[in-house]
Amino acid sequence: MSEKPLFERLALIGVGLIGSSIARAVRASGIARSIAATAKSAATRKRAAELKLADEIADSNAAAVAGADLVIVCVPVGQCGAVAAEIGPHLRKGAIVSDVGSVKTAVLRDMAPHFSAGVHFVPAHPVAGTEHSGPDAGFPELFVDRWCILTPPEAADADAVERLSAFWRALGANVDTMSAEHHDLVLAITSHVPHLIAYTIVGTADDLQNVTRSEVMKFSAGGFRDFTRIAASDPTMWRDVFLANRDGVLEMLGRFNEDLAALAKAIRWGDGEALFDLFTRTRAIRRGIVELGQDSPAPDFGRPHPPLPLAPLPRPYAADGE
Ligand code: NAP
Repeated sequence: MSEKPLFERLALIGVGLIGSSIARAVRASGIARSIAATAKSAATRKRAAELKLADEIADSNAAAVAGADLVIVCVPVGQCGAVAAEIGPHLRKGAIVSDVGSVKTAVLRDMAPHFSAGVHFVPAHPVAGTEHSGPDAGFPELFVDRWCILTPPEAADADAVERLSAFWRALGANVDTMSAEHHDLVLAITSHVPHLIAYTIVGTADDLQNVTRSEVMKFSAGGFRDFTRIAASDPTMWRDVFLANRDGVLEMLGRFNEDLAALAKAIRWGDGEALFDLFTRTRAIRRGIVELGQDSPAPDFGRPHPPLPLAPLPRPYAADGE
C-alpha cells in the first residue's frame, strides 16, 4: 500500500480483462483513493458491482468521469473516439486522460480532438494480456514486470506524463516512452503480425478437408497448441487492432512474406545451412526474452503436468549424496 494515494479518483471506462486488472491492482497498491467504473452493457456493470471492482459503478461514461483526476479508457480501440466524445465535456480541469489501446496512432487521432486544453491526454499501452476477456478474467498481477509504453503527444505536460508513469510503476510495470508511430511499427511485428499468423494457421488447419477436427485437437501438442491459445483472443479487440494499425501491419507483413518466401526456397533447394543459421539466430532471441524476465524457461509453457504415476526413475548421473 503506498503511503499517500497519487490520485484522488480513478475512473475506468470498460472493465474487461485490462480495466478490471487495473481496478484490482489499484486496490492492492492504494495508488488511488477511490475508483469509479462503468461498461457498455448493464450485464457487465452488474458483474463489476458483484466483484466489487470499484467504489461506484456509474450508468454512463459521462457520469463515471465526474470529479476524476485520472481517467483510463479500457475499451476496444474502435470505440475510443466515441467514448472520448462522450466524456470530453464532463472532464474535470487538470484531469489526466489515458487509455490502454493496443494501437496508438489511431487512438491519438480519434480521441485528442475531444479534449479541451485544460485536460492532459497521455495515451498508453500496457503490453500485458491473456486470451481471456471480461471482468472475471482480470487479476492484479497482470502488469508486474511487464512494459507499459506511453506515447505522449509532443506538447504533453511533463508532470502529467510523470504522474502516469508513477501510476504504472506502482502497478508493477516498467515504463517506456516513444512516439505513437514508432509504437505501432514495433507492436506490429511483436504482437499484431504474430496474432495474424496464429489466426491464419488455426483457420487453415480448420479448413483442411483431409484432417478432421478431432485429429487437429488430439495432435495439437506439436506447436499448434500454442497458436490456438493466441488465436482464441477476443475477436472484437483484434478486428479493431488490424483495422486501426493497417499501415504498420501491412509493412511488417510485407517483410514477413519476403522472409517466408526465402525460407520456402531454402527448403525447396535443400539449403540446410540457411535453415540452420536462421534457427540458431531465432533461438538466441528466445533466450534473450527469457533472460529479460519476459517469459518462463519452463519446458511446459505454464502448463504444469500432474505428477507421473511412477516411482522416481533411477538417476545414474546423479552425484553422490544428491
Ligand atoms: P474486454 O475484456 O473485451 O473488455 C472491454 C470492456 O470495454 C468491456 O467492459 C466493455 O463493456 C467495455 N466497452 C466496450 N465498448 C464500450 C463503450 N462504448 N463504452 C463503455 N465501455 C465499453 O477487452 P480488454 O482485453 O480488456 O481490452 C481493452 C483494451 O485493452 C483494448 O483496446 C485492447 O486493445 C487493449 N489491450 C488488450 C490486451 C489483451 O491482451 N486483451 C493487452 C493490452 C491492451 P461490455 O462488456 O458491456 O461490452
